[in-house]
Amino acid sequence: MSEEEIAPIRSLKALRGAEDACTRCPLYRNATQAVPGIGAARASIMLVGEQPGDQEDQQGKPFVGPAGRVLAEALEAAGISRDECFATNAVKHFKFETRGKRRLHKRPGAYEIDRCHIWLDTEIALVRPKLIVAMGATAVRSVCGKPLAIGKIRGHAIALPDARRMLATVHPSYILRIRDDDDRHAQFRAFVADLKAGARLTNRAA
Ligand code: SF4
Repeated sequence: MSEEEIAPIRSLKALRGAEDACTRCPLYRNATQAVPGIGAARASIMLVGEQPGDQEDQQGKPFVGPAGRVLAEALEAAGISRDECFATNAVKHFKFETRGKRRLHKRPGAYEIDRCHIWLDTEIALVRPKLIVAMGATAVRSVCGKPLAIGKIRGHAIALPDARRMLATVHPSYILRIRDDDDRHAQFRAFVADLKAGARLTNRAA
């Protein structure tokens, strides 16, 4: 679907169809399907990750793989119900390279992030969250329109040009990759603290 063919989209259902028909970058060619955002239509918190993983690509739902389980645990520890959230990704199709029968995650590039931004923007316009939690560098780049160092902005509210607010944190897959148990547990606690800070920004107890 080219830029010229994108008509105004007024529902998440229509958005799902448009994402699935999208050919704005090459990633649609090898992925199983587009993976749309999922959650409450009027969620107060929008969680934005990077891109679907192998399991998300097959199931057509975001955050159903190992990183999704870390996110679910962290949300529970932060006292945030998944029902209050809309979970999505900056890029809607799975980017990977094959090694034998395995499909290995490849980080999306600036071109793919920018081409896919229209769909995240549409999700934000439809859901109108109070806060966008950008998890990882790709999400931060998509939400802000430019790369920012997560270490410098993590855990604080950032005002966006459209009067919305963003809080940056790590992607849960980063926590999964930490081998040392103590480090991993510390990073999980820091992730939970970021989510709690986000919940406070939406004026609810956490
Ligand atoms: S990754 Fe995004 S821009 Fe690229 S084809 Fe898929 S939906 Fe379209």
